[in-house]
Amino acid sequence: METSVTLEHGIQLTHAYPFNRRTEKVNLGESSGRVLATDLASKVDDPRFDNSAMDGWAARSSDCVTQGSTLSITGTSKAGGEAPPVVGPGEACRIMTGAPVPEGADAIVMVEDSEEVGNTVRILGPARPEYIRKRAENLRVGQEALEKGTHLGPAEISLAATMGHGEIEVVVRPKVAIISTGDELVPPGTELSAGEIHESNSFGVAALIERMGGQAIRYGIVHDTIDGLRAALDNAASECDAILTSGGVSMGEWDLVRHLMEEEGEISFWRVKIRPGGPPLFGTWKGTPLFGLPGNPVSSHVVFISLVAPWLSHCMEAHPENGPSLTDRVRVKLTEGIKGAPGKLCMRRIRIEAGEDGLVATTHTHQGSGNIHSMVAHNGLTLLPPDTDGKAGDIIDALWCR
Ligand code: AMP
Ligand code: MG
Repeated sequence: METSVTLEHGIQLTHAYPFNRRTEKVNLGESSGRVLATDLASKVDDPRFDNSAMDGWAARSSDCVTQGSTLSITGTSKAGGEAPPVVGPGEACRIMTGAPVPEGADAIVMVEDSEEVGNTVRILGPARPEYIRKRAENLRVGQEALEKGTHLGPAEISLAATMGHGEIEVVVRPKVAIISTGDELVPPGTELSAGEIHESNSFGVAALIERMGGQAIRYGIVHDTIDGLRAALDNAASECDAILTSGGVSMGEWDLVRHLMEEEGEISFWRVKIRPGGPPLFGTWKGTPLFGLPGNPVSSHVVFISLVAPWLSHCMEAHPENGPSLTDRVRVKLTEGIKGAPGKLCMRRIRIEAGEDGLVATTHTHQGSGNIHSMVAHNGLTLLPPDTDGKAGDIIDALWCR
C-alpha cells in the first residue's frame, strides 16, 4: 500500500484495476449519454446531392447578370419530389430549401430577390453559386466522422443518424455502487433527530456517475458497524463493476471503511495530495475496484471529479477529447489572492466568467469542504500547484465544471 500519493500517480495506480469493459448494440434513440464503442463511418454522402440552401430560383448565373432580366419558369424542384426539369439558357426552376438543383443551373436567386410575373420571373438580386450545397461537402461515404470513445450528446446523435446508423455499438454502462457510511446520516425527506444530518453524497455522486455514462446504484446508508459494512460491500461487489463508499476513510476511530479495507480488502493507496479531498482510499474488495471517498460533501465531489472520473474514462476507453467529461481545463486570471496548500494540489472553488481579455475567477462563499453550497455558488476549481499561493492578477490553470 502506498500513502500520500500525488494525484497523477494515484490515477496511474487506479489503471491497474479496470473493470471488464463490455459493449452492446442500442437503438440510436436510446444512446444519449452513452460512450461509442467503435469508430463510426458514414454510409452516405452528406449532402447526398447538390441542393439549394434557400427557397428561390435555380438558374444560370450568366443569365442573371443584369438586374431585371426575365427568365421563363420551367417547373419546381421540391425536397423529396420528382427530378426537376433541366434548366436551359433563359430559364429558371422554382426551388425549395433542400431540393435537388436541376441540371444546367449553377446558382440560386433568393425568392426575396425576385418577382414572379405569369410564367416568368424577374431577377432583381444576385444569383449565388454558394447557395448550392454541394454533394459530399460535409461528409463522404466511408468517412469516419465519429471516433470510438465519443460521448454521445445531441449533436453526435444527430450526426450518427445523418450517417445512416439506426443502431450503434456502445459501452455497457458500468454499474457503480454507492454506499454511504455514518451513524449521523438519514435520507432527505426524513425528520432529523438530535445529531442527525441529511445524507447527500450518494445523490450527488450518483449524478456524477450518470454524467460519465455509468449506471449508479445507491445502496443507501450503512451504519458505522464492521458487520453492516462488510455485508454491504459483499452485496455491492457481487452486483457491480465498482464500489464507491462515502465517509469513514480518515483517521478517526469510526472510520471503518479504512479499517475494514486494511483487514479484509486490498488497499492500493490511501491519501492523495489534494485539497480538499485528502483522505481517499483506493483498492479492491474481493476483486472489485473500490474508491473510498471522503465524507465531506465537497471532498467527495472533488475526489470523484479528479480521481474517479479519469478512471471511468480509462476503463470505458473514452476518447481523450470527446469522451465523457465533467470539466474543461482552462486558464483564468485571479481577481483576488487565493491560498494554496502546503504539499498539496489545491482545488479551491472559483466562479469563472468572461472578463475583458480572457476568463477571470472570483470566490463567493466559505470554502469549507463541508459546504456543498460552495460547489453550486462556483463553477470551477483552481489547480494551484503544491505550496503555491495565487495572487490577484496571476493567470493560473483551472477546471471549469460542466
Ligand atoms: P467522515 O469521513 O465519515 O468522517 O465524514 C466527514 C464529514 O462528512 C462528517 O461531517 C460527516 O457527517 C459528513 N458526511 C459523511 N458522509 C456523508 C454523506 N453521505 N452525506 C453528507 N454528509 C456526509
Ligand atoms: Mg463517518
